[in-house]
Amino acid sequence: MTTGENKKKSAGLIFVCPEKGATFSSAHFKIVENNGIKTDADGNKTLDAKVIIEEPCPFCSKQHVYHVSEIPCPFNG
Ligand SMILES: [Zn+2]
Repeated sequence: MTTGENKKKSAGLIFVCPEKGATFSSAHFKIVENNGIKTDADGNKTLDAKVIIEEPCPFCSKQHVYHVSEIPCPFNG
């Protein structure tokens, strides 16, 4: 029997506040500047896009923008 401890609610992505170095999750984000999948010299595929959080950071109250490569997320497969 599992206790469900590993059951993660997929309500949002994990972001790191660059000001405080603290992590938080947010489900209120959107993809911007989506340039599609890029393949580098080694054949690694990455999505060239940015993620903007539509709510202020809980730590510094700023609105952060990240490149998708900075985020541990499904987009990087
Ligand atoms: Zn912040």
